[in-house]
Amino acid sequence: MNVALGSLPLPPPMSYYQTLTPAKIEAGTDRAIADALAVLDELVAPKNQRTFENTMKPLDRIADILAHATTKYSFPGYVHSDKDIRSAAKTSEEVQTKFGVDMVFRDDLNTAVKEYAETEEARSLQGEKARFLEFSLRDLRRAGHTLDPATRAAVKEKTERLVELSIRYQQNIDEWNDWILCTREDLDGLPDSFIDALDTDEDSGKYKVTIAYPHLIPFTENATRRDLREELRFKFLTVAVEDNKKILDEAVRLRQQIAEAFGHPTWAHHRLDERMAKDPARVKAFYADLVDPLTAKGRQEVAAISELLEADTGETRVQPWDWSYYDTQQRKTDYGVDNFEVAKYFPLPQVLDGMFELTSEMFGITFHEIEDPDVWHEDVQMFAINDAATRKELSHFYLDLFPREGKYGHAAEFPMILSRLLEDGSYQNPLCAMVANFTKPTKDTPSLLQHGEVETFFHEFGHVLHQNLGRTELARFAGTNTERDFVEAPSQIMQHWIWRSDVLKRFARHYETGVPIPDELVDQLVAARQLNKGLHQLKQMQYGWWDQEIHGGPDRDLDAIQKDGARISLLAPHEGTYPLASFGHLMGGYDASYYGYMWSEVFGDDMFSKFEQAGVTNPEVGMAYREAVLAKGGTVDGGQLLRDFLGREPNSEAFLRKLGISGTQ
Ligand SMILES: [Zn+2]
Repeated sequence: MNVALGSLPLPPPMSYYQTLTPAKIEAGTDRAIADALAVLDELVAPKNQRTFENTMKPLDRIADILAHATTKYSFPGYVHSDKDIRSAAKTSEEVQTKFGVDMVFRDDLNTAVKEYAETEEARSLQGEKARFLEFSLRDLRRAGHTLDPATRAAVKEKTERLVELSIRYQQNIDEWNDWILCTREDLDGLPDSFIDALDTDEDSGKYKVTIAYPHLIPFTENATRRDLREELRFKFLTVAVEDNKKILDEAVRLRQQIAEAFGHPTWAHHRLDERMAKDPARVKAFYADLVDPLTAKGRQEVAAISELLEADTGETRVQPWDWSYYDTQQRKTDYGVDNFEVAKYFPLPQVLDGMFELTSEMFGITFHEIEDPDVWHEDVQMFAINDAATRKELSHFYLDLFPREGKYGHAAEFPMILSRLLEDGSYQNPLCAMVANFTKPTKDTPSLLQHGEVETFFHEFGHVLHQNLGRTELARFAGTNTERDFVEAPSQIMQHWIWRSDVLKRFARHYETGVPIPDELVDQLVAARQLNKGLHQLKQMQYGWWDQEIHGGPDRDLDAIQKDGARISLLAPHEGTYPLASFGHLMGGYDASYYGYMWSEVFGDDMFSKFEQAGVTNPEVGMAYREAVLAKGGTVDGGQLLRDFLGREPNSEAFLRKLGISGTQ
């Protein structure tokens, strides 16, 4: 060792994510699986006396081991800058998920849990523990332990195949890159700030407008060139068609076969067994109640857009690439709202501060940024949440907010470490990441968020809070581990705050002058809130209907279903596109469950009405909400959480009021 070197300060420790390699991912995954397997083998070994501690708690420990493995080895598949690492991480995800499948199919595990269920102790379990036993028995039943061995083996094989298909489907979307090339004239309608931030094509020198959201949305909303709006939208809706069409087709067939093995008529029936809705008929009834009032509103909206279109082009038939554009025009001319002007009041750092301040006040928490965090990209920030009263640390989260090549293309919260009472009696705080694709900062301007992006930010942050403020004993029910058609309620509710002038005025200030957003602009923004919301909700309903239909029986014709769904949206299908090939929810755990967005929006709106009554930033209601809903995670049925917080049965009044629809049932 060189003595001179010994006196130099040590280099900073290399971060985990920065030094990650495919080999480390592979070895780490193998180690995690071996650890989980060791716990499982010990769990299933014969016992004189089965107890919660020797049977159920280890089962939860396995979920914990896998969550740690997710954090280190599979989550990078969505965010890492290195393609080989993303690829290795996707393989890790597949290996881990398949281990989970293998585990519930094991006879000895089924025997162990059933033996425990027969004990005196099991019969006297209460609350979260009782629910864990009930859910574990349900998971095992759904793994076919009541089926004959041949059928069960077939179900297992199909389930494993579905794991592979899901991962490949999402990877095909994430790795897809597409754009159109535009001259400066082609970009008419878009402001200089947008144009200056675009990359140019080396050969032609033209501007590159990609299908990533920070390009797609402003372009479809503002570009006067109707043909280019059509072209960009076409590219967005033809992502990964060739591969993903086949994948989806196979997945839908496999799911139907699995449902039939369990004696269910459709995958939707099989899936909804685990949801609040319980039965596809209830989803149909939910849509049936809403479709007429929404259609009536939507038809008026299409008629108004058609007039504008006719004045511009002489044509009257509104196409799918027209409505965002005319919606933006209407906002400007009828309400005086220019999305880019509004964005100047929403520089991202200020929105973040405002959101922290608001949620601190309401939910009794504090935030602080972690310096030099261990991250996978320089854009990423990390924060801690503490309880304001006790000052105890509760959790950590990452924010990864700007687009990059190969990164997950939407906005989502990814659970990482799950909250859990550990074997030594200490409590494991959770960790999660919010991944989004917001407008990037440029040399001269900070990231200026469009109001729609602010809404997305609040929505996803609702998931972060749900994940991070859950104080459950078991990983099985940590944070967002609730019913899939309830999980959006704590995120939908968050969207309400950014439509309140008293809230916006706290943090919406012009990025150059520091002047708070003018009252008039907020009033106009709020006045335009219901504009074209009929069309917006009908589009959501179309997606939900597609999802229910493709999972609604044997021999589904996906092409026909896709075409047919267009009538709900009131606009003709975009010829030649195939939106089902990049509808990530269908392969990302929301299969037969996409309706859950609108379903839980209704509940989010209903819960917000409690805040409205008490003053929207009322900390007592905030704390009641934190305790009754957020802290409970999935330990209680969603319907019960709602009744506990509301003090009554939930209803859809607030939802309809928000949309400007009244007199409906
Ligand atoms: Zn969400």
